[in-house]
Amino acid sequence: IRKSGTLEMLTVNERLESIGGLGRLKHWLNQKAQVMADWPAARAFGVEPPKGVMIVGMPGCGKSLTAKATAALFNLPLLKLDMGSLMGKYVGESEANMRRAIQVAEAVSPCVLWVDEVEKAFVGIGAGGDGSEVATRLFGYFLTWMQDKTKHVFVIATANDISALPPELLRKGRFDEIFYVDFPSREERADIFRVHLHKRGKLSAQIQLDRLAQATEGYSGADIESVVKEAIEQAFVDGRSALDSDRLLQVIGNTYPLREVMKKKLK
Ligand code: ATP
Repeated sequence: IRKSGTLEMLTVNERLESIGGLGRLKHWLNQKAQVMADWPAARAFGVEPPKGVMIVGMPGCGKSLTAKATAALFNLPLLKLDMGSLMGKYVGESEANMRRAIQVAEAVSPCVLWVDEVEKAFVGIGAGGDGSEVATRLFGYFLTWMQDKTKHVFVIATANDISALPPELLRKGRFDEIFYVDFPSREERADIFRVHLHKRGKLSAQIQLDRLAQATEGYSGADIESVVKEAIEQAFVDGRSALDSDRLLQVIGNTYPLREVMKKKLK
């Protein structure tokens, strides 16, 4: 399978080391990987079968990156279910799409099923009208499947807006754990700079990660990646042989984090 409308098989090359910060989440995933690597022994010891994880939080802070890195860490294929495009226009279409997606995931199992923008499926719940009815049925179907699934399908659900999610989904027991991913702290920003500079072969002793972190309060991981890319391009165009902190700080001085831009727009 490559792509069948709402479901997509992804080839991933992200590793857990490609994620800056998010230490607790990475530690938790590593523990799950160890359990899965030796599942018969883990089960015999009394470990519960892993169900999945919900990752909620700010845009551009590593949720998608984590989903991809997890599949690589578990050494399993990654199926991405896009909730936004699952919601069909015709009667019964959304449910048929959901059923089909789950069937495919079970056929491919063991695998990781990444349900992106999970809140999209639940927008109508409680709001009344037809949309709400479909959403309620879909939600029920999904929850029952999550609860009873016997096949080895590890679910990673990602969402931006926790307030749009029905409390039943968040209740302990549905997922093994729920993580909230916030804007990175100063230490995490330094780590994200390190990751992106290293990835592009530009990490050197001249670069003071702490100064960069200090100058980027409110920047997301995606914002930091943009800074690194821009600084590298500028250094190349200027004919420099290396990249230094001043160049990065200059780019930072000329940019806003996306969050600031959104705030300004809202005013
Ligand atoms: P959205 O909700 O908008 O989909 P997201 O949280 O899923 O956002 P990602 O797609 O994971 O965000 O992040 C976008 C890009 O920003 C990533 O491909 C990665 O390069 C960079 N990035 C974000 N967070 C981190 C991080 N913690 N460490 C390293 N890179 C990061």
